[in-house]
Amino acid sequence: MNAEEFRRHGREMVDYIADYYENIRDRDVMHRVRPGYLTSMMREEAPEAPETWEDIFKDVEDVVMPGVTHWHSPRFHGYFAAGSSYPSILGDMLGDAIGCIGFSWATSPSCTEIEMVTTDWLGKMLDLPEEFLHQHHGPGGGVIQSTASETVFLCLLAARTKQINRLREQNPNLQNMEVISKLVGYSSDQANSSVHRAGLLGEVKMRKLPSDENYSLKGETLRATIQEDRAKGLLPFFVCASLGTTGTCAFDNLEEIGPICQEEGIWLHIDAAYAGSAFVCPEFRSYMKGVEYAETFSMNPHKWMLCNFDLSVMWIKDRALLVDAFNVDPVYLKHQDQGKVPDYRHWQIPLGRRFRSLKLWFVIRSYGVSGIRQYIRKHVSLAKEFESMVSQDDRFEIVAEVIMGLVCFRLKGPNRMTELLHDEIVTDGRIYIIPAIARDVYYLRLAVCAQATTSDDIRFTFNVFLECTERVLGKFNEKNGVNYRPMIDIDGPLPKYVTPITTDVVEDHTSKKM
Ligand code: PLP
Repeated sequence: MNAEEFRRHGREMVDYIADYYENIRDRDVMHRVRPGYLTSMMREEAPEAPETWEDIFKDVEDVVMPGVTHWHSPRFHGYFAAGSSYPSILGDMLGDAIGCIGFSWATSPSCTEIEMVTTDWLGKMLDLPEEFLHQHHGPGGGVIQSTASETVFLCLLAARTKQINRLREQNPNLQNMEVISKLVGYSSDQANSSVHRAGLLGEVKMRKLPSDENYSLKGETLRATIQEDRAKGLLPFFVCASLGTTGTCAFDNLEEIGPICQEEGIWLHIDAAYAGSAFVCPEFRSYMKGVEYAETFSMNPHKWMLCNFDLSVMWIKDRALLVDAFNVDPVYLKHQDQGKVPDYRHWQIPLGRRFRSLKLWFVIRSYGVSGIRQYIRKHVSLAKEFESMVSQDDRFEIVAEVIMGLVCFRLKGPNRMTELLHDEIVTDGRIYIIPAIARDVYYLRLAVCAQATTSDDIRFTFNVFLECTERVLGKFNEKNGVNYRPMIDIDGPLPKYVTPITTDVVEDHTSKKM
């Protein structure tokens, strides 16, 4: 493809993307394909001869899109929001075009310096303590990582090394493995699975501590466990506190946990992957009280701040704990300005790194802090709207306090009914939602995800719930000989707010070979 063709096809692709977003409501949010659908459409070997761009581009609709779950559809309510916006997409385009590998400042100074500027901007937007900022001219600063999972793993490794070094200073004959086998870290039983996985990868024990009735980890639970573990000869070294858990968007009590970590010499990492974006709004900052005790803090603009994956930001108070812990410095990576600015390769696991800060820079500048606040507040108010619809129907119950853009609810009664409701919604296919279990209670999580979601979309979604509920309760009553009060006659005409279900024909793609 030459430059002229690139201009033409690039414009076509931009049009395609803009049309995709503008008309995304018209697409079924859920794919309707079975495993292997795409493989069966493909030849087994790569094409020997070049293909025309027209042929390739045509397959975006014919081959790719049937197997896409539309995460940016206003009907998508699974997991948490996955960020996307036009300025972010443009940032990725430019980053791909520049294509530098910014592992050190010298390999592309703007790649490092825009990252320093944007992580400082963001840190200030969230009102993080100034020790986390580059502009504080201390040892702290922010860095862009791929994911919150990678960050928690990296922090756990750095905390592990810090403990090993400390103990080996006292006793140089100690073997690393002797220390590692005694280390123990903690999180609440509601922490994201990536926290437990970081323990498995780092070969240290990670204990899940019971959260309270609000799914929050309290100081007294942590303190009692630390005492118990010290009595057994273990070495508590790491706590990952969650601000906005995946299951119910609960908040650990940092004001209690923080001082305990400080007294005990334990590294406190804060995982605010989703909820961190909301701290741009002052009204949510009470949930981060105690943040000053953290050694590291991470949140994902690729979740709730309009940036496309992958863009997770981590701040550390003392960069030496990363840079010195895993330092390798071969001559081919050295440069003459070394030491004056961060060489971000020391702050992460891989060597290479993309120019990801461009999209954060474009997003913050295009929306402004006020625009980002408005976006977050809109999502929270849509979640509240949904909560109020659910609360007005006494067949449902809310499972956890709705604080941000997540509503956790279920059908009253045995878990089986909510399981059936979820199955019915999957079969229906008009909306996308996922279930979760907390303390043996099965419930549904509705997250407000897409930038374009409106009140009408939330009403639409609620109506799908009502309709599916009627069907489930009808089936449930019939099978169990009980009456759970259907509200509408399922065989009668649909209430006017219910969109009739279309029977989707699942296309047979298997005959097409390319
Ligand atoms: N932490 C929390 C609270 C999350 O909700 C998630 C994902 O939803 C993660 C961590 C993992 O995020 P990532 O995909 O960036 O690793």
